[in-house]
Amino acid sequence: MQEIILLKYGELALKGMNRNSFEDMLLRNIRHRLKHIGSYAYAKAQSTIYITPCADTEEACAALLDAAMPRLHKVFGIAALCRARVCEKNFADIAKQAVPYLQEVLPYVKTFKVEAKRADKAFPMKSPQICTELGGILLEAFPNLTVDVHEPDITVTVEIRDTNAYIHAAKLKGAGGLPVGTAGNGLLLLSGGIDSPVAAWMMAKRGLRITACHFESPPYTSERARMKVEKLVEKLAPWCGSMAFYCVPFTEIQEVLRRECPEEYFTILMRRLMMEIAQRIAAQNDCYAIITGESLGQVASQTLQAINCTDAVSKIPVLRPLIGMDKTEIVDIARRIDTYETSILPYEDCCTVFTPRHPKLRPRLEEVEAVQSAVDFSALIDEAVKNTTKKIFAQRVAEGDEA
Ligand code: ATP
Ligand code: MG
Repeated sequence: MQEIILLKYGELALKGMNRNSFEDMLLRNIRHRLKHIGSYAYAKAQSTIYITPCADTEEACAALLDAAMPRLHKVFGIAALCRARVCEKNFADIAKQAVPYLQEVLPYVKTFKVEAKRADKAFPMKSPQICTELGGILLEAFPNLTVDVHEPDITVTVEIRDTNAYIHAAKLKGAGGLPVGTAGNGLLLLSGGIDSPVAAWMMAKRGLRITACHFESPPYTSERARMKVEKLVEKLAPWCGSMAFYCVPFTEIQEVLRRECPEEYFTILMRRLMMEIAQRIAAQNDCYAIITGESLGQVASQTLQAINCTDAVSKIPVLRPLIGMDKTEIVDIARRIDTYETSILPYEDCCTVFTPRHPKLRPRLEEVEAVQSAVDFSALIDEAVKNTTKKIFAQRVAEGDEA
């Protein structure tokens, strides 16, 4: 009999009326995620998605399952996942299959318990009876084991469902959150730093599909700096799905700023101009929010007054998922999602190239608007938008799934 993967939705199951569209989006994202590594059959029933590998031999099927698991771990909307053995829906078959199937885990632990879940209440044995009888069989087969119902090393679960029964021994926590795409599109302002990739990950987790936008200032910023940012997009793709990446040439605007505007306003004006350009790219891409990696008080441009001056330019909400987080908390996530090592590579960012010596820490909006109105940036903004380049980053590339 076959081994498959069972996925549980978690929070998704609470979505009532929208549930079908949430499930469909999750299934679509999963198919998209796996289609380059092989053939799988998909089914859904009772808040569970069933993924069956399609190959001729048991080894090939096992290899498909091995390849799928780490990828599924990065799909938002999945609360838990496990590999499970499919059994016929009778206790004799469950008992027959349990011992060989659990051979890979049970010899290596000391304590266990059996849990039974009967989605099909017509099954002739009640849950406690299934647990007792299967527990007895496993104790006999694996003399190293004792039962511990409170803190077992391993919980063996038997699920009695619509058409079959399933046995599994290691339920793993999934990425959680909501399926990417169910919350609409957001435009991420992606620098090469530690924070903005983490911000992208957090908003993708809440169901936003992410489009990334990066500002560069060649020759002050190098080709390698851009490649680093592209690497970050690649690292995010397994979580966020395939992503469009826009790169905005920002040199001219920065040079005019430096020439025409008081130095202390430089950072805040630059951020307002970035925001104006971002509005245009967001509108072209049906994005209804801008996402940044700002955290309150982290640097001069992230005081409340400075944030107020930047927000004033935006017609759509600016989401700042890191606003209340400490750097150490942000770094922890960056390490977990594997963007940290890339983020700390020492390449310059357009923001750091033109940093004023004494930036205004508490800029007043009227003042900033007055300074900005002395220079007409509209033609420069049009030009920057016109010369923006676009690249698509496929989800599969990051994990070497190129078909
Ligand atoms: P990060 O670690 O994300 O670079 P930071 O702590 O260095 O953030 P800033 O440089 O002030 O802080 O940038 C704040 C936010 O502005 C970034 O998180 C990002 O969303 C956006 N940003 C900064 N520089 C760029 C850029 N060159 N292109 C696109 N967005 C940028
Ligand atoms: Mg930065």
